[in-house]
Amino acid sequence: MKKTLSKAAVYLFTFVLTGFIVLCVHLFYDGPSAAILMYHSVGASNGRMTCLDVTEEAFARQMAFLHARGFHVIRLEELAGILRRGEKVGPRTVVITFDDGYDNNYTKAFPILKKYGLPATIFVIAGRLGENYDVARGISTRIMTREMMQEMVASGLVDIGSHTTHHYYLPDVQSESLLWEEIRGSKTFLESVVGAPVVSLAYPLGGHTRSTEEMARRAGYEVAVGTNRKDPRAGTDLFALKRIRISQSSSNMLIFFLEASGYYPRLKRLAS
Ligand SMILES: [Zn+2]
Repeated sequence: MKKTLSKAAVYLFTFVLTGFIVLCVHLFYDGPSAAILMYHSVGASNGRMTCLDVTEEAFARQMAFLHARGFHVIRLEELAGILRRGEKVGPRTVVITFDDGYDNNYTKAFPILKKYGLPATIFVIAGRLGENYDVARGISTRIMTREMMQEMVASGLVDIGSHTTHHYYLPDVQSESLLWEEIRGSKTFLESVVGAPVVSLAYPLGGHTRSTEEMARRAGYEVAVGTNRKDPRAGTDLFALKRIRISQSSSNMLIFFLEASGYYPRLKRLAS
């Protein structure tokens, strides 16, 4: 009886160990990916938050964490160069991005980015500068002004990217000329505002097709990002990079650590 039990224990141990090894190989083989973090509003001034927003305190904690734990925060353009050359990204490589261009990215997030010297890209809705704009979420929030963008670009820390002119869901836009205006027109306009090249594009609501990707390439962008999760690694299409959405739940630092770890999409796939 005792012998049978100990035999069963050995089998069980071998089974668990094998499972653990398979899991580790699945997770860690290929090395880490870069984690492209996607923020929206930071510390909405009207006090109302959606699941896409983070508080100023949570954002400050997250940036302090990246800084203190030796994460390698690089510009989106730099990551695009690494991927284009087919190189592997180093461990703990993170890119910080913001969508829509809310003025609280300037008033709340920018001082924190400056404090830790962390670069970021802000994707601005080019046709809404200085306006109160509600991106279909029931909360009206102000989009940043020209002066805010100019000051941030002059700091050398922030790059401005395009989030198109009107934030249309691009796969629904039938007119080629309207699509061109949204993609190319917004780029030209933003470049005239900030006096620097605008080389990155974020598709509104993450919506893109082969033809919008191709148009972004033709318009002169170097890189374009969507929203959902997938590993940005060498060989990945530079005009369809996926990001990790940072939301209220990311105020839990264990969740944020996993999201920034470079293994989050794989962990998420395992869990689903
Ligand atoms: Zn958006």
